[in-house]
Amino acid sequence: MTKPRKFEKILVANRGEIAVRVQRTCRELGRKTVAVFSDPDRHALHVRYADEAYPLGGAAPAETYLDQSKLFDIARRCGADAVHPGYGFLSENPSFAAACRERGLVFIGPSAESIEMMGEKTRARERMSRAGVPVVPGTPPLAAASEAQAEARRIGFPVLIKAAAGGGGKGIRRVDRADDLVPAFDACRREALSAFGDDRVYIEKYVDEPHHIEFQILADGRGRTIHLFERECSIQRRHQKIVEETPSPLMTADLRARMGAAAIKAAEACGYVNAGTIEFLVDADRRFYFLEMNTRLQVEHPITEMVTGVDLVERQIRIAEGEPLEDLHLSQRGTAMECRIYAEDPWNHFLPSPGLIRKLSPPGGPGVRDDTGVYAGFTVPMEYDPLLAKLVVWGENRQQTLARMDRALAEYRMIGIRTNLLYLRRIVRHPEFGKGVYDTHFLMKHQDELLKAEPSGRETVALAAAAVLAWRGEAKKSAGPTSGKTVPSPWKLSGRPGGSDS
Ligand code: ADP
Ligand code: ADP
Ligand code: MG
Repeated sequence: MTKPRKFEKILVANRGEIAVRVQRTCRELGRKTVAVFSDPDRHALHVRYADEAYPLGGAAPAETYLDQSKLFDIARRCGADAVHPGYGFLSENPSFAAACRERGLVFIGPSAESIEMMGEKTRARERMSRAGVPVVPGTPPLAAASEAQAEARRIGFPVLIKAAAGGGGKGIRRVDRADDLVPAFDACRREALSAFGDDRVYIEKYVDEPHHIEFQILADGRGRTIHLFERECSIQRRHQKIVEETPSPLMTADLRARMGAAAIKAAEACGYVNAGTIEFLVDADRRFYFLEMNTRLQVEHPITEMVTGVDLVERQIRIAEGEPLEDLHLSQRGTAMECRIYAEDPWNHFLPSPGLIRKLSPPGGPGVRDDTGVYAGFTVPMEYDPLLAKLVVWGENRQQTLARMDRALAEYRMIGIRTNLLYLRRIVRHPEFGKGVYDTHFLMKHQDELLKAEPSGRETVALAAAAVLAWRGEAKKSAGPTSGKTVPSPWKLSGRPGGSDS
């Protein structure tokens, strides 16, 4: 067993909010940070934040954040001893993890072998069912549409056709009737090939009233694998999470104990080291099934940090440095929720809306954390994922967390580009969400309500007016002599979160 060795310099092979997030912990730990950046990211926050920053040259992901040779060249030049991959990009690429190892650069994450074993979904499913972890009924990769037809009949409709190499919610298609299977199979194949460079697809039974509940894992490679409780991630659009919370409203102590044990078993079965997430589907009868493992830091990791008090990035770094987990004492305190803030227009098919952020005023106050990758004056590039920031709140109980998220979303001002802030606020204020009664169909089921009227309605006009007035310092003029208020309070327009959205 090698002696723990502290890194001096960590190269963060990523961009946006996660690159900033990782650097923040590096700074607290006294590790120097190195940023890399593409041409459109020259002035990005992660570049400003870093101790050193190097250009990758180019704009497209393939010639920048995915270009291993450029990254290794920079790592050598700056003398980094470790690489943090963030999420997305090279974080789940086994060849990158292996190439780091060959160069004596520590990859802050699991081994290339674990990534390889869990990265391809059908192989992971196979491995998990051998380990005794329940998996969603399904098939290995299927060669032809005719084979798919027979398998789907055996499993029973509805089924999902899924890309074996899939991720980010892409390459998933639901099929309800035998007649639709062949065209869907062929379409899914093409989509998988173009998105992942791999056209293998397989079939899974469609789980009824599905809940996506995942468990955070930490493993130190010295015999200790633990879970840090669950995250409820059923608020999804096109199979992509938008709002996450912990604890899950569906959870019971007994279910948590059983799912947590299954998650640990799953991680141990692939010799897992470092932070990872076991995703499960849970049906209406609270039966759970392994869905996939994400062998990296997850987007929604902050909600786990809020209720456990554990800095997951710190643990990732210390595990990679060879430290054991022995000093970790775990408990869940209160509840936490995250909203993903995107540069997109919910009222125009959620189209990405990159561009210049002219004004930005993030929320603050008790229990609020804003993990951002942007600032006022930054131009959000069109080349990458439109995630701008993650608003994370903590409260003693779910009711307080909801009220806090509602007021924090109301405080959040971003002018110049379109965002999903109002859409998020409507989700948080929805009565059914307020009761904690929801599954992965929630956004589809309530689509009309959530997107009702245009953002030119009362809420937005008030929000925009308040923001503009505040920034122009014209508040007094408009408030009138007797009101005594400086700016209109947009969050007083309607009732409590979970109540109706007038
Ligand atoms: P999480 O499970 O952490 O919520 P997501 O599925 O939302 O993660 O993906 C996180 C980021 O990584 C997104 O930007 C997504 O587009 C990207 N991503 C995830 N898996 C893949 C993949 N296999 N190929 C390309 N991008 C991916
Ligand atoms: P990705 O790698 O893109 O994250 P996942 O396999 O994790 O793909 O699935 C993403 C989402 O798609 C899940 O969170 C769930 O909402 C939905 N989904 C996936 N498989 C099933 C299934 N068998 N039944 C019902 N919903 C599913
Ligand atoms: Mg997933």
